[in-house]
Amino acid sequence: MAVKRVLVIAGSDSSGGAGLEADQRVLAAHGCYALTATTGLTAQNTLGVQDIFVVPSEFVRKQINAGLEDVGADVVKLGMLSSAETIDVIAETLQAHSVPPIVLDPVMISTSGAELLPKAAIAKLRTRLLPMTTVLTPNIPEARLLIQDAGLEVPEPRNLDDLIDLAKRICSLGPKAVLLKGGHLPLTKDHQTARNSEESAIVVDVLYDGETSESTLSQTGYLISKNTHGTGCSLASAIAANLALGKDMRRAVRSAVRFVEVGIKTSSDLGRGSGPINHFH
Ligand code: PLP
Repeated sequence: MAVKRVLVIAGSDSSGGAGLEADQRVLAAHGCYALTATTGLTAQNTLGVQDIFVVPSEFVRKQINAGLEDVGADVVKLGMLSSAETIDVIAETLQAHSVPPIVLDPVMISTSGAELLPKAAIAKLRTRLLPMTTVLTPNIPEARLLIQDAGLEVPEPRNLDDLIDLAKRICSLGPKAVLLKGGHLPLTKDHQTARNSEESAIVVDVLYDGETSESTLSQTGYLISKNTHGTGCSLASAIAANLALGKDMRRAVRSAVRFVEVGIKTSSDLGRGSGPINHFH
């Protein structure tokens, strides 16, 4: 059977825990082949991002074209996109080659607080890329930023019904489906806001399908761990791998959520800050 190919367009994380480095490990762990277009390089470690070098967008264009004109891709995964110009290039190049399914992780600010996409580029991401996206994987702050950027009201979610409502709102911005990650809002068993420290809290990720208007929930225990660096990148790459392997969206998401959950639970402490999850399980 031919190996499944995923084109990853994202930034490099010199600490190895997030970005392209994590994406490639996740894809390898799923038996998929990764080709890459690097949008930016970060100098970072587990304590934070020290600096970012933005790769010129015309060079990103060459990388994407080189990959798609030769090896090709079954799925495209988008992570840190670095600049508004690069977003234009991605939209143009993917449209020029017939666009495969796109998993878009709208990376904007790292957990440590570094700006990974300039604020001025958010509108570009929203208007150019969301309409091409098969599944968008925002966390709650990213979902709210995208909706606010469109000039729409966005109340702060407090319970599961609010999360589902937020997922629907963001889906109306263009993607076919949205996986809204609930990690920033730990819930009690009856789906109300929990205190962060509450050990019995749960995290609910909401998959909203804009075509069928159906919501599917993935529920996991709220894990208290310092090793969560790169969870967003890893989840989106695992979804991309599962889609490339032929799973439908619900199974692709369910299995990716589980992959990340096990990765957090079995992580080893690396560095003095927020370390990477385990990708080899
Ligand atoms: N660095 C790069 C290159 C990334 O793509 C990302 C997230 O997508 C991060 C850092 C931030 O990862 P985290 O927020 O998990 O620390």
